[in-house]
Amino acid sequence: MTARVLIVDDVFANIKLLEARLTAEYFSVISAMNGPQALDIAERGECDIVLLDVMMPGMDGFEVCRRLKSAPATAHLPVVMVTALDSPADRLAGLQAGADDFLTKPINELALLTRVRSLVRLKHLTDELRARAKGSQGLGLPDPLTVAAAEDGLNGRVLLIEDQHVTADRMSAALQLHHIVEIDAGGAESLVRIEEFNPDVVVLSLSLREVDPLRLVSQIRSNDQLRNLPVLVLAEIMDDPRVNRALDMGVNDYLIRPVDRNELIARVSTQIRKRRYQDRLRDNLRASMELAIVDPLTRLNNRRFLQTQLSMLLRDENRRGAPLSLLVLDLDHFKRINDVYGHDAGDEVLRECAERLRSLVRGIDIVARFGGEEFVVAMPDTDAFAASRVAERIRDLIDKKPFVIARGEKTIHVTISIGVASAPRTGGNPDALFKLADAALYDAKRAGRNCVRAAA
Ligand code: GH3
Ligand code: MG
Ligand code: MG
Repeated sequence: MTARVLIVDDVFANIKLLEARLTAEYFSVISAMNGPQALDIAERGECDIVLLDVMMPGMDGFEVCRRLKSAPATAHLPVVMVTALDSPADRLAGLQAGADDFLTKPINELALLTRVRSLVRLKHLTDELRARAKGSQGLGLPDPLTVAAAEDGLNGRVLLIEDQHVTADRMSAALQLHHIVEIDAGGAESLVRIEEFNPDVVVLSLSLREVDPLRLVSQIRSNDQLRNLPVLVLAEIMDDPRVNRALDMGVNDYLIRPVDRNELIARVSTQIRKRRYQDRLRDNLRASMELAIVDPLTRLNNRRFLQTQLSMLLRDENRRGAPLSLLVLDLDHFKRINDVYGHDAGDEVLRECAERLRSLVRGIDIVARFGGEEFVVAMPDTDAFAASRVAERIRDLIDKKPFVIARGEKTIHVTISIGVASAPRTGGNPDALFKLADAALYDAKRAGRNCVRAAA
């Protein structure tokens, strides 16, 4: 999987060194020699991952990282800090600035490529979600990229899977300052425990005695509900080959014992932040899919949804030889309600009317707002006679029970006219059926409104 890597370093020779290694692996490389230049490139969306030198004159790497991570346009870019010394203080500062990972100079080639590859994989997933979120702009949803960039990664749920009690207690004490923490001793029940506790992140010891922790990782990654759960593993030593295995299996990050308290806190928050970022994007995707089929004012289905469903229903009903009925409903003199009481009152009437419709039909019926003050109800397995009775009940409920408007201050009398048509006669063509019902509605209007007419 190739990607565009931005190398930021004030020393040209360092850039050349990394560039040679990365281009040999078919990554494409862009470089910047100072912070502001790097921010410009990232802002323009010209890179997929950033390798960032910490010590630079002017704006240092921590500051560049902080700015990248707090801007909606760049918050999703993985940042690897490149530090001269493996100092815990630097690592902590980097994590607090939002860095995703670290490499220590001189850079170990395997470490470089492993980290870049795994972060690139994650980035591609996030890009996919971001692209869809952008598609939903202008639908009136909160901008998920802004919401997500503001995420602090605190108050999460953390499950520690660790059978060394002293270590588990110590980690739990540190994390409890910011999160809800539970400890699991690692056994046959661990997967069930994860499902029940529903954590935002799992911290998993690679030294469990009762179960193979990598098997647990594989179970998590192949479980539909848990697939995206962040997992952080605890290794005894840096070159435990199982760390690389774990990363290959989709583990998100690792810590080496003895666990530095602050690093633990920072890495857990980073995972929670990323997870919530992706959750926000997914929520947005769900909401925009819902918007495509639901009318926002009344929460009824919209015209597009009704049309696709109606075609399918008719095919189905025809095959079974069952009747299907359609009601087309239109509020009477609705323009007058708007004119006299205002548009907001008109909206209240539409919402209340939708409620009443919903309350009078069965779960399998489809109620849609077809446009303006016009509604459609599709009723499977319902013949013309039964449909007309339902229509009459609806007409009666609208007519008899006054509508409350102006936040309870006024009530008004509203009526509705309804046309009914039933399916087998029309050979299952949705447009033809709709035209019949609409013609019946027109008859009802001409007959003086507040009445039901069935297609001849
Ligand atoms: P008729 O009895 O013949 O159906 O008369 P009508 O006044 O109900 O019909 P007409 O089609 O003349 O007017 C419909 C009105 O519905 C006009 C439009 O302003 C209003 N309308 C359409 N959509 C909305 C909406 O979302 N909210 C509100 N408040 N009014 C709407
Ligand atoms: Mg009307
Ligand atoms: Mg109308």
